[in-house]
Amino acid sequence: MRIVFFSTQTYDRESFLGLDKPTGAEFVFQQPKLTVDTAVLAAGAEVVCAFINDDLSAPVLDQLAATGTRLIALRSAGYNHIDLEAAQRLGLVVTRVPSYSPNAIAEHTIALILALNRHLTRAYNRTREGDFNLRGLTGFDLANKTVGIIGTGQIGAAFARIMAGFGCKLLAYDPYPNPEVTALGAEYLPLDALFSRAQIVSLHCPLSPNTFHLINAETLNRMQRGSMLINTSRGALVDTPAVIEALKSGHLGYLGLDVYEEEADLFFEDLSDFPLQDDVLARLLTFPNVIITAHQAFLTREALHAIASTTLANISAWAAGSPCNLVKAEA
Ligand code: NAD
Repeated sequence: MRIVFFSTQTYDRESFLGLDKPTGAEFVFQQPKLTVDTAVLAAGAEVVCAFINDDLSAPVLDQLAATGTRLIALRSAGYNHIDLEAAQRLGLVVTRVPSYSPNAIAEHTIALILALNRHLTRAYNRTREGDFNLRGLTGFDLANKTVGIIGTGQIGAAFARIMAGFGCKLLAYDPYPNPEVTALGAEYLPLDALFSRAQIVSLHCPLSPNTFHLINAETLNRMQRGSMLINTSRGALVDTPAVIEALKSGHLGYLGLDVYEEEADLFFEDLSDFPLQDDVLARLLTFPNVIITAHQAFLTREALHAIASTTLANISAWAAGSPCNLVKAEA
């Protein structure tokens, strides 16, 4: 069984090669992203292992199915990037890694909050230049601040636990409230009320037609002046030009992003030798109160190990006809 991995970095190869291969498996690591042009690299491979910015639209799936692929093993939790109806029509089975390390993403969310609040990037640059002045570095206590959590599944719940430890008041919105989060003292309430009462809003819901551009000019307007927005979930939850306007007017006080709507052609690549072609991202990068990381919230040793072991377990189970973490198109 040939398994072709797309979008692989050194850390992916190390984590997969550190584990036992499924019986009879051959690993082929490809660095390029999966696209309609690179799908040919999977010709003859029964299994394609794909990551978040791989193109799994119908034309790519058509090509994979035509050259012998039968399983798409996603090494991600999110599956908004695959055309599940096309996969079903083509008889392609799709698996994912529903949970690998919610703590990894929750802890990165905290890193963004603290770095923004305490101006760590400015302070780091200043002290390295021998500038020990504290002008503009005033932060705020997290204790007693109100944090709005949108999506309280595994990551939102891990985030809630940590913020409760900081002494924050927790507000939450989720169509399916999580008793663990309620037990931490969180108050579930409608989105509008969350936006107007929270000083920090953090997104932990999946990207779907319902949540596309959940943060837009109207919802930003409902947020308190000077509040903080954090998105470690999916880029398209946020209408970026609307956020830029809110930053320019000072209505939005801080922005921390680990994901960006147009990240597919940028993130995971070293583009430092080239002019940045994305004017929206370029504008975002000019604000002193914005921190952007390039989809690295998942990147801990523990998460990489869990991603690799669950992905390989999914492949072995599929090959044996046993239950695995299937993703299916909604009826
Ligand atoms: P999960 O399925 O455990 O939780 C998602 C929660 O969102 C569920 O409780 C669900 O009811 C809720 N939800 C669904 N629709 C909603 C809506 N319209 N409004 C509010 N809540 C809604 O998923 P998880 O493991 O906690 O992951 C959450 C998201 O984090 C994933 O969908 C993925 O996009 C993102 N993620 C990012 C990274 C990263 O590296 N930055 C890594 C993993 C996951």
